[in-house]
Amino acid sequence: MPELPEVETTRRGLAPHLTGRKVIGATLRRADLRWPIAREVETRLPGQRIEAVRRRAKYLLLDTGAGSALLHLGMSGSLRVLPADTPLRAHDHVDLRLEGERVLRFNDPRRFGCLLWQPPGEVHPLLAGLGPEPLSDAFDGDRLFALSRGRSAPVKNFLMDQSVVVGVGNIYAAEALFAAGISPLRPAGRVSRERYARLAEAVRRILSHAITRGGTTLRDFISPDGAPGYFEQELSVYGRGGLPCPRCGRTLRQTVIGQRASVWCASCQR
Ligand code: ZN
Repeated sequence: MPELPEVETTRRGLAPHLTGRKVIGATLRRADLRWPIAREVETRLPGQRIEAVRRRAKYLLLDTGAGSALLHLGMSGSLRVLPADTPLRAHDHVDLRLEGERVLRFNDPRRFGCLLWQPPGEVHPLLAGLGPEPLSDAFDGDRLFALSRGRSAPVKNFLMDQSVVVGVGNIYAAEALFAAGISPLRPAGRVSRERYARLAEAVRRILSHAITRGGTTLRDFISPDGAPGYFEQELSVYGRGGLPCPRCGRTLRQTVIGQRASVWCASCQR
């Protein structure tokens, strides 16, 4: 599943090819993905110039004077800018036709992605109520500490709560808690301010590193034959249940927390 670093890498890969370019039409090969595709993609977007390609949480926004196309890659979606005559492949559901004989092509085998519309000056309901971006100044240990007081839910669930901070999925929550030495099962309200400062720092460092590494795969976004551009992670604990802890060598435990598999070291994480 694309996590925040893949979505940011996608944004960085697409932006130079889309910014300033006019959309001349939209070809929808089906009416819905996860939800019905917004009517405005056909009625408002054509004729508009893309002013910016932004990311909010794991959503991408193509801003125009008439509003913004709002995209989510879901479980399996990918976007590519291609020559307009590139043959279709299975699951190529949407083309936004661009001036200069190009298309922005949305492929999504499992159809958990979406293509919606945000009118100018409005915030789409899916984006309302989201917490701060993890790489922004609004996210820090003090915020985690303040919001967590009195909460008995496991700190891992708290960290993955999108109203607390956006874009920290299962992989990065597990990795950041390991880096900060905090057990994923510890009640959120019983983590100190100092340890939350370490956790926030770990979240920033790990996400930034993943985004930097993603930069090496950017060419895939404009290659018709390229892989979707997701990248191998350097992971310490995620997906490594039963293997030795990279820090102390003891066997990593796997526990289900909030219906998600969580791997952690009972010795290094308290
Ligand atoms: Zn350990």
